[in-house]
Amino acid sequence: MTEIEEFKKYGHQLIDWIADYYENIEQFPVKSQAVPREIYNTISEKAPDDSESFDDVLKDFEDKILKGITHWQHPSFFAYFNANTSFPSILGELLTSAIGAQCMIWETSPAAAELEEKVCNWLRDACGLPAHWHGVIQDTASTATLVALLMAREKHSDFMINKAGFTGNEKFAFYCSAEAHSSIEKDVKIAGFGSESLRKIPVDEQYAMKPEMLERQIEKDMADGFTPLCVISAVGTTGSLAFDPVHEIGRICRRLGLFHHVDAAYAGNAAILPEFKWLTDGLDLADTYVFNPHKWMFTNFDCSLFYTADKGLLIRTFEILPEYLKTDHDNEVNNYRDWGIQLGRRFRALKLWFVLRSFGLEGIRKRFREHVRLANYFVEQILLDGRFELLAPVKLNLVCFWYKPHGDHSIDELNDLNKTIEKRINDTGKAYITHTKLEGRYTLRIVTGQTNVSQCHVDDFLRLLKETVDEMESGK
Ligand SMILES: *Cc1c(COP(=O)(O)O)cnc(C)c1O
Repeated sequence: MTEIEEFKKYGHQLIDWIADYYENIEQFPVKSQAVPREIYNTISEKAPDDSESFDDVLKDFEDKILKGITHWQHPSFFAYFNANTSFPSILGELLTSAIGAQCMIWETSPAAAELEEKVCNWLRDACGLPAHWHGVIQDTASTATLVALLMAREKHSDFMINKAGFTGNEKFAFYCSAEAHSSIEKDVKIAGFGSESLRKIPVDEQYAMKPEMLERQIEKDMADGFTPLCVISAVGTTGSLAFDPVHEIGRICRRLGLFHHVDAAYAGNAAILPEFKWLTDGLDLADTYVFNPHKWMFTNFDCSLFYTADKGLLIRTFEILPEYLKTDHDNEVNNYRDWGIQLGRRFRALKLWFVLRSFGLEGIRKRFREHVRLANYFVEQILLDGRFELLAPVKLNLVCFWYKPHGDHSIDELNDLNKTIEKRINDTGKAYITHTKLEGRYTLRIVTGQTNVSQCHVDDFLRLLKETVDEMESGK
C-alpha cells in the first residue's frame, strides 16, 4: 500500500471507530477508574526504534489508553463545566490538523486570519456584545485574562513596563470577588505583580461581588499609596455561577480610572439566547471580555473568544516586528501574532465556523434552552424529594445543592455525608459530579450542559442519587 492508500484505509477505520465510540459511549464509566501510574506502567519504557503498524497502535489505544480516559462527551458528565465537542467540530478539527497551517500572521494563511475575524464578529453580534468590539481567538480564558492584565499594565505605564520593566516602587492593586476563578490569581502572579496585589472582594448572599465593598477597598488602597489598576468581574463564577454587578463595577472603574476585564468563561455562551440578554448588561463600560465556546458551545477545546474595546492598545501591548515577519499588507490585515502571547497559532476558527454553520444559531439556542430546562427540572425533583437543599440560585444550568436530612447535624457531619455521596456516585461510573465549598458547606454541583444530555440522563442520575442516599440511610 502507498502511504496515501494506507491513510485512506486507516482514516476510514478511525472515523468508524469514532462513530462507534459515540454510539456506545454510555457503556464506559464516565470518570476513569484508573489508579495512579496504572496507565504509565503499561506503556513501553522506550520509544520504538522501528515502525509499528497502525493496527497495533490503535489496539494499544483501546487496551491501554481508553481505561485512563474520563469521558467528557458522555451525556451523564455533570462535573466541572463541560468541555463539549460535536461532530461538526470534530470534522473541522480534523481539517485543521490536515492543513497543518501555522497561522501567526495574515500572510501565512490569509483565510485563517479572515475567517477568525468573521466568526469573532458573528458571535459578537449574535451575543449582543458591543458592536465596536474586536475579537480574537485565544487558547483559554486563563490566557485571555493574562492578556487583559498586560493591556491594563501597559495602558497605565504608557508602554514603559514593556520597555524598561518594573522600575520605581509603585505598588499596584487588582480586584476580583472572593468567588472568582483561580486563573486570575495565577495571571496576576505571571504578569509580575505578585499575588499579594490581588484583593478578593467579599460577596453577597448570592455570591456576587459587593460593589460598595469594591469601591471602599479601591479608595482605601489609593489613600494607602497603591495604584489600583484593574477589576476582573465574573459573569458566572465557577463555583456557583454567580453574576457580579458588571454595570456598577464598570461605573466605579470609569470614575476611578481602572481597567475593567469581564470573565464570562462559561456563562457568556448563554448570551446567545435573547432571554438571557441581561448577561451583557454593562459591557459597554468594559475594556475586555472573554468567553469560551470550548465549554458549552459544542466546539472542542481549545477555543476562547477574547474581545477588546481598544484594539490599538491590545496590539501595541504585544506587537513585535522583526524584519523577517514584515509584509506588504501589514496595514490592511490582522496579524494575530500581535493580539496575544503566542507567535504560532492554530487555525481554531475553522471548527467554530463548522459548528456555527452546522447547528445554526437557532440550533445552538435550542440545545442551550433544553439544558436550562433540565437544570430546572432537576431542581424541582430534588426539592420534591425533600432531603436536599439548594445552596445557590439557579440562573442557567448549574445546580448547587446538598443532602440535608431532617434532624440535627453539624456542618462537619453534613460535609462528610455529601463527600461520601459524591464518591459513591462517581465510583459507579454511571455519572460524574464534582463539588465546591459554599460558606464552608460541601456543595454538590451538577451542570446539565453536555452536548447530548437529555431527559433520560437526568432521570437516571436522579434515581442514582436517591438510591445512593437511601443506601446510606439504611446503613449500607
Ligand atoms: C473555566 C473558567 C475559567 C478558565 O477557563 P480556561 O479556558 O480553562 O482557562 C476562567 N474563569 C471562569 C469563570 C471559568 O469558569
